[in-house]
Amino acid sequence: MRETGLQRPIIGGVAMRNMESRTPLVIALVLAVVGAGVAGARQRPAPVAQSDARELVKTEFVIKDVRVFDGDRVIRRTNVLVRDGSIMRVGSAAPAGVESIPGDGRTLLPGFIDAHTHAFGDALTRALMFGVTTELDMFTDHRFAAFMRAEQLKPDGALRRADLFSAGTLVTAPKGHGTEYGMAIPTLAAAAEAPGFVDARIAEGSDYIKIIYDDGAALGLNFPTLDRDVLRAVIDAAKKRGKLAVVHIGSRQGAEDAIAAGASGLVHIFADVAADAGFVRRVGTARAFVTPTLSVIESTTGVPSGASLVKDLRLEPFINRQERTSLNGMFPKRASSKQDLGVALAATKLLHEAKVPILAGTDAPNPGTSHGSSLHREVELLVRAGLSPEAALAAATSVPARVFSLKDRGRVAPGLRADLVLVTGDPMRDITATRDIVAIWKRGVRVDRPKAPTETAAAAAATTTGLANPRRVSRSFSMGWRSDRLCVRRGSTIRSRASSSR
Ligand SMILES: [Zn+2]
Repeated sequence: MRETGLQRPIIGGVAMRNMESRTPLVIALVLAVVGAGVAGARQRPAPVAQSDARELVKTEFVIKDVRVFDGDRVIRRTNVLVRDGSIMRVGSAAPAGVESIPGDGRTLLPGFIDAHTHAFGDALTRALMFGVTTELDMFTDHRFAAFMRAEQLKPDGALRRADLFSAGTLVTAPKGHGTEYGMAIPTLAAAAEAPGFVDARIAEGSDYIKIIYDDGAALGLNFPTLDRDVLRAVIDAAKKRGKLAVVHIGSRQGAEDAIAAGASGLVHIFADVAADAGFVRRVGTARAFVTPTLSVIESTTGVPSGASLVKDLRLEPFINRQERTSLNGMFPKRASSKQDLGVALAATKLLHEAKVPILAGTDAPNPGTSHGSSLHREVELLVRAGLSPEAALAAATSVPARVFSLKDRGRVAPGLRADLVLVTGDPMRDITATRDIVAIWKRGVRVDRPKAPTETAAAAAATTTGLANPRRVSRSFSMGWRSDRLCVRRGSTIRSRASSSR
């Protein structure tokens, strides 16, 4: 078998719907069960399937004498042969008569997986520019996700952008976090409605179920959230259907409640009250994972987490104006905020020491973050928290692949997709070496990496897939979680009370 891969979903009834767009872009809604491999990691392992997707991408090259971080460990010096989109061989002599890429003094890594993003517009194209080859989205327009999912399943699909797996519509209480972005979304009020609600998300294509359990208190805010019994009912419903139930929490207490309710994972760490041995033990016993999202947590403390990326000459030429603004952004720190980055870093360290799987996620494009570039900040912060560089890099590659059952990626190993990043230097000595990118390959095809690109025509087209105004929603995201913005629908316009007063 040449390659193990994601189960390719059977696209059964395909509904063609003309989305609001300037060009009549049709999008195929995947109506059948989207097994996509992102089913519950422990609940139901995704079946391994043959993939014939590589046949059309004819490439062959060898990266010679290169240091490899294979997703788990370092191979000091080896040769990596890539053919037709897949990694064919790691080690042994480099074959003659094949394009050879010098690897001396360089490190080859699996393409990065950002385990917490919100993808709109050209986000996936931009992510790829910085070596992020897969995004695990935690809330976007489900029609956008369906379009992207269908496209990347084509034999030559999605070579110029990161792959997307998505929660689609999140699960939140009426007027809860997630309702403020200008997209009308259904909300959940009662436990009895949870199974039907989850069924509806699965029918829309959600690869996993994202649940908001946060009343904003740690940020000095106050908004409604799910009751504990509703939280438990949603988690139960998701897991019964073979989906991961991932929970956005904003406080230590929220994390405790989510773990007690059976969450598969937490997609933020808290920063209000210190973790202790008891908490860490409970997470370990529950076999839950944690995506700390330290980049966005830092930004909630009033510090623009991405500011150092903008100044880094290895990244700066590739960061566009909109991204620069977002990276230099932050959440306003309120007097009543309890956010302390030190608490988040210490909790991450304790969890890691207890062998809780830690995943690198940025929460791009929230303030202080941006798609792609922020992943490099996130691994730096994971190292600051106390992870070894190898563990931080695993958090951005093999660990999310395992947790989300993405069996065809996340490691440099024979049979896997040739989603690869080649950098100068050694990230095991200096984690910021991940920024010194020599080349990126998506399924064995080298990615063009123009400096400070403006939006391409393709990206502009992507912004028209499903959302009435993706730019507005995206902009709204970059303003942060419910920053006192109480959104009110008036006709077709979304008004933001607080932002208009700022
Ligand atoms: Zn998020």
